[in-house]
Amino acid sequence: MYTVDNNGFYGKFGGSFIPEMMYKNIEHLRKEYLNIIQDPSFQEEFQSLLRDYVGRPSPLYYSQALSDIYGGKIFLKREDLNHTGSHKINNTIGQILLARRLGKRRIIAETGAGQHGVATATVCAKAGLECIVYMGATDVERQQPNVEKMEFLGAKVIPVTSGNKTLKDATNEAIRDWISNPEDTHYIIGSVVGPHPYPDMVARFQSIISEEIQKQLLEKTGHKNPTKVIACVGGGSNAAGAFYHFMDQKEVELIAVEAAGKGVETKESAATTALGKLGVLHGSMTLLMQTEDGQVIEPYSVSAGLDYPGIGPLHAHLFDSKRATFVNATDNEALEAAFELTRVEGIIPALESSHALAALGKIEIKDTDVVVLNLSGRGDKDMNTYLKFFKQQQQDKKA
Ligand SMILES: *Cc1c(COP(=O)(O)O)cnc(C)c1O
Repeated sequence: MYTVDNNGFYGKFGGSFIPEMMYKNIEHLRKEYLNIIQDPSFQEEFQSLLRDYVGRPSPLYYSQALSDIYGGKIFLKREDLNHTGSHKINNTIGQILLARRLGKRRIIAETGAGQHGVATATVCAKAGLECIVYMGATDVERQQPNVEKMEFLGAKVIPVTSGNKTLKDATNEAIRDWISNPEDTHYIIGSVVGPHPYPDMVARFQSIISEEIQKQLLEKTGHKNPTKVIACVGGGSNAAGAFYHFMDQKEVELIAVEAAGKGVETKESAATTALGKLGVLHGSMTLLMQTEDGQVIEPYSVSAGLDYPGIGPLHAHLFDSKRATFVNATDNEALEAAFELTRVEGIIPALESSHALAALGKIEIKDTDVVVLNLSGRGDKDMNTYLKFFKQQQQDKKA
């Protein structure tokens, strides 16, 4: 009911709104992706890499401390423990195997904060495939450590100097490249966004998250379904993975958390469902933040991974049909939630995941609730931001 239809739509969202020049690439992928993904030998290779290379299954950790604070039984799905530090590797592993089977020898990707670029460069190094990552010139400067990692892994990072020199411009450049190199190149998109079949393909690769949650919950509680699943949403891939096997289980409440930035009432926000309207972004019909005349608004969030002007079409549909509850958390709320988890559990979460943690204080949790929160990534990359916040807090206390 919530999965994609034959035309690539989720309700009125999704589809494939692309320039004619790109049609051949997308059509080839659309025709082949299910045959390839559902082939038993593909699944065998994918599952074995998820196990031995990524380190899956990722643990489902019962947090006594968070349960004491917020009520219910709160479990953390530890995607932060994956190789390269987040859920993104589930998708890039899947797509690199797919690219191989499509006979592609060259991989392109776009990246904003650099996290998807690193996950792509990682699997290209492993597979021995050429890797080109397009990145806005502004982002190249802001995200030097990730640029260095990609280059060390053997990727070529191309700074994009058009437009605002950020993610949107990098995406345009990647599309241009793909159109010029349709035969030998596969474009790895990093979230459940883009034209059909990308949202469905990425959701399938990430669905391992909820598949494992069901098995692990059954073992730990005797029931495979939780009461609530909470995940942050940038484009929506970790949430899609965490929700996937629960979407048709009506009794499971799905809670998606967007980045409010400095607040939805300010101009600096990335809370798409609160601020967005219907439109076409990156080849799909979805909700996006736009001006009256349809120009995309630059989003803002302290968290680079949530700093995206839209959401994937699946999430737009989950929102529109009221199947999922959307809440948002500000920069400060996320920073405080990160600090809290760090101090009560000794787990430093990614800033993106901290938005999901911040939602714990915003929703009603009953004593009988079983809550699974998808901890999408680890916080190593965010230490500078955390330390700045922490020092400011200490100063404010003294004053
Ligand atoms: C990229 C990223 C996100 C946001 O992307 P989604 O596609 O919405 O999951 C969330 N958490 C972490 C740790 C990330 O790196």
